[in-house]
Amino acid sequence: MLPKKFIPYSRQTIDAGDIKAVIKVLRSDYLTQGPTISAFEKKVATYCNVKHAVAFSSGTAALHGACFAAKIGVGDEVITTPITFAASANCILYVGGTPVFADIKKEYPLIDPQEIKKRITKNTRAIIPVDYSGMPADYDEINALARKHNLIVIADAAHSLGATYEGKKVGALADMTVLSFHPVKSITTGEGGMVVTNHKNFYERLLLLRNQGITRDKKKLVNKTQGDWFYEMQELGFNYRLTDIQAALGLSQLEKIDKLIAARRNIIHKYDEAFKYLSKIKALDVPNNRTSAWHLYPIQIKAQDKNRKHIFNKFHQIKIKVQVHYIPIHLHPYYQKKFGYKTGDYPNSEKFYREELSLPVFPKITKYEMQSVISATKKFLS
Ligand SMILES: *Cc1c(COP(=O)(O)O)cnc(C)c1O
Repeated sequence: MLPKKFIPYSRQTIDAGDIKAVIKVLRSDYLTQGPTISAFEKKVATYCNVKHAVAFSSGTAALHGACFAAKIGVGDEVITTPITFAASANCILYVGGTPVFADIKKEYPLIDPQEIKKRITKNTRAIIPVDYSGMPADYDEINALARKHNLIVIADAAHSLGATYEGKKVGALADMTVLSFHPVKSITTGEGGMVVTNHKNFYERLLLLRNQGITRDKKKLVNKTQGDWFYEMQELGFNYRLTDIQAALGLSQLEKIDKLIAARRNIIHKYDEAFKYLSKIKALDVPNNRTSAWHLYPIQIKAQDKNRKHIFNKFHQIKIKVQVHYIPIHLHPYYQKKFGYKTGDYPNSEKFYREELSLPVFPKITKYEMQSVISATKKFLS
């Protein structure tokens, strides 16, 4: 059964309501800097049960914003995981800080609090745990370490909007939580991101970075004698704004988030059921104190790297576009050249990388497509 069209590992879910919402903004007075952005921010903040939210033009810009808000700078170290997208560590470099990697656990591909502990020095300022595949990191242990050593926790929740940890929504688990609205994530705005936080000081700095470092807040102005036209640039910022067009899409998508996540969960349960007797693969177990946003379906192939490559190619030959998440960051040439990392530095991450394949998971996958993925997996991995 050769699928006619390729099956991506993930894709967006857009319906007529989303399209209508975007068109409405296109006909309105504001395409950017209008009222839809703050409406979207308020809805996300309410959904996550936090006080403040600041929308950004991408998840990467939002990560940059969080590092800036945390006042990370030259000489400061920030601990993160190697098993993530490059953006989780690049944001530390954007503000002049030094990324320090802590290996993942053996049991599941999330940063290991014991490894974080070993890497804390007098220069450590923050921790960036990543909720890989939609599964929240070990926030109890991470927050306890942070409190003890006076560190800021910035959750990279690009995969996990809608997930929970001990009954609490992602967004309320860290000092700042960074979301991404790329088309493969829980909800999409095309490109887009957001930082949610309960801290007013972080919130104000996030606003500054997003808009060139400019403030119009009269209480904050250095020069208080000017008129109502006046504003001041007080920091070096960027144009990291989301548009109202994108925010309209985000608002419309947010209404459906729980349904979208439930659809992902159903697919994953079907895969789990179909693969439970395949001894060559291991699916991810989610610890029972948390729920996932089911961003990915990562399987680990209990065999050699060569075999993974072979199996990856076989899937692609029949147009099933499985993916690998992720190449450990410390093995990228840029990081190797800059920091001297080498193979063997993070054994759990490297082993996970050698074995991982992400099977297609997205809410609108058809029964036929899902059946193709299941048959192919059984065929290639029995
Ligand atoms: C998607 C993603 C980001 C942010 O990506 P953008 O494409 O800039 O929105 C950050 N971290 C992780 C782990 C991601 O998957």
